Amino acid sequence: MSTDTQNPQSPHAIESVEEMIAHSIALEMEAVERYEEIADAMETHNNPETAELLRRLADYGRKHAAEMKERAGGRDLPRIAPWDYKWGTEESPESAEMEHAHYLMTPYHAVMIAHRAESNAHGFYAGVASSSTNEDVCALAREFAEEEAEHVAILEEWIDRMCPPEEGWDEDLDPPNISE
Ligand code: ZN
Repeated sequence: MSTDTQNPQSPHAIESVEEMIAHSIALEMEAVERYEEIADAMETHNNPETAELLRRLADYGRKHAAEMKERAGGRDLPRIAPWDYKWGTEESPESAEMEHAHYLMTPYHAVMIAHRAESNAHGFYAGVASSSTNEDVCALAREFAEEEAEHVAILEEWIDRMCPPEEGWDEDLDPPNISE
């Protein structure tokens, strides 16, 4: 039986450990790229505090991706074209959404965006664990889902310790793009 035989009941099911790890690395790296992208935007808008937090999140993502690569050991990982990823959504689940980024956003907002990304990643792995027919994939997906749940818990601790931004945080007294 070929490893890429698709389960007719769930065409998005991941059926090999190699495929699972390839998705995990892509997921982390896309998250990293997105955090860096938002951090760049924050720096452009003179918001270094939030940029620094996003760089930190990007670093965690890079470390996590490196761990995933180690988990692959000597396995040959498939190269997957972006349109062939089995996220079940258009974007990778852990990538933070640019549309939620605002140039005046505070570190609190950045953590909220990360919280959402980590929750989505958790959901992705939980979904794989319940849809794959490959036992090794299920075991790995459960393990990764637990890791993401830990990340979510850590971010929740951060959120608890932070003060939500005051109302009017997005009002700029000196707006950057006045057209007239
Ligand atoms: Zn994570």
